[in-house]
Amino acid sequence: MRILVTGGAGFLGSHLCEALIEQGHTVVCMDNLVTGRVENVADLLGNERFSFMKYNVCDYLHIEGPLDAILHFASPASPQDYLELPIATLKVGALGTHKALGLAKAKGARLLLASTSEVYGDPLVNPQPESYWGNVNPISPRGVYDEAKRFAEALTMAYHRYHGVDTRIVRIFNTFGPRMRPHDGRVVSNFIVQALQGKPLSVFGDGSQTRSFCYVDDLVRGILALLMIESDRSVEQRTDRKFLHAKQDDEASESIHNPVNIGNPRELTVLEIAKLVIELTRSSSQITYHPLPADDPKVRRPDIQRARTLLQWEPNVPLEDALLRTIEYFRKVLA
Ligand code: NAD
Ligand code: UDP
Repeated sequence: MRILVTGGAGFLGSHLCEALIEQGHTVVCMDNLVTGRVENVADLLGNERFSFMKYNVCDYLHIEGPLDAILHFASPASPQDYLELPIATLKVGALGTHKALGLAKAKGARLLLASTSEVYGDPLVNPQPESYWGNVNPISPRGVYDEAKRFAEALTMAYHRYHGVDTRIVRIFNTFGPRMRPHDGRVVSNFIVQALQGKPLSVFGDGSQTRSFCYVDDLVRGILALLMIESDRSVEQRTDRKFLHAKQDDEASESIHNPVNIGNPRELTVLEIAKLVIELTRSSSQITYHPLPADDPKVRRPDIQRARTLLQWEPNVPLEDALLRTIEYFRKVLA
């Protein structure tokens, strides 16, 4: 397949480009480098099946030749980034998603949208199934990201229903791993870098808020399974038991075009993750407490039943292993 990855020079996008090239596909990576880095795809630049375009996905998109799929991952993702870039974040979620969907329609390509657990806002149910509509404050500082992604989901479903574009939506829960920037601002990278540098770990609030952390390799496997799963008709043709369940699920929730949560359901408090990072880095760092950002979700944990049934996917990298791999990466980067 020939696949466009928007945001391909970012943390997740670069892992997706790498996995797609490994599987034999041809990849066009598009990124304006607002939060990404060319270094993330440096190893792919010499590959004849890989090309890089520095481009803003909000502008008119023109890609020469056929395109089979688009992975639309362009968007600031760390709260630190989207709070610094509120309008660019709203624009890429709205205008960028519109351009990507328009391109998918013109090329007859499948489009997979990177959505987020933030569409659930500060959730009133835990864990969060895809059927939960969320609890988002549209006018809070975080609203720029949450509402951009909610609009992007609405637009994606409209292009599917109105124009028949073959679309997928993944709701990604907190994911970490190599290639996050050391000062990206997200909790796992912050804590690891602070612990390795012997600085205090900055816990926001009292650290009782929870998150559920997924390793990047698990996430990439889930996303590619969702991208590659065939449309409803082929699902219906399958006769094994798991797919019969998937079919019933499809009928109940309008099929594979509806959002799918991908994340690791193991839920920890932020204070627990800080202590675990100190233990695994064997750091002598202390913990310091800072004010909790506005509307910081109190709990977050994916219900992954739909991914299990539809994709036969579940995470298999234990949190401790995933942290050790990421610690190794940051040790090298900081050295
Ligand atoms: P990231 O900041 O590393 O990557 C985002 C990439 O998009 C960057 O390379 C950036 O330069 C690029 N980009 C932003 N605006 C652009 C524009 N207008 N035109 C072209 N490129 C643009 O973040 P990430 O963690 O890799 O996130 C990737 C996607 O996954 C985002 O859409 C994000 O919302 C989503 N997501 C990530 C997580 C996570 O835990 N990492 C969780 C939920 C959703
Ligand atoms: N957090 C923290 N210290 C940090 C960075 C983040 O305590 O240095 C907290 C943050 O307030 C939130 C959780 O860790 O409760 C996860 O934050 P992150 O920015 O990684 O992602 P979010 O889930 O909020 O999008």
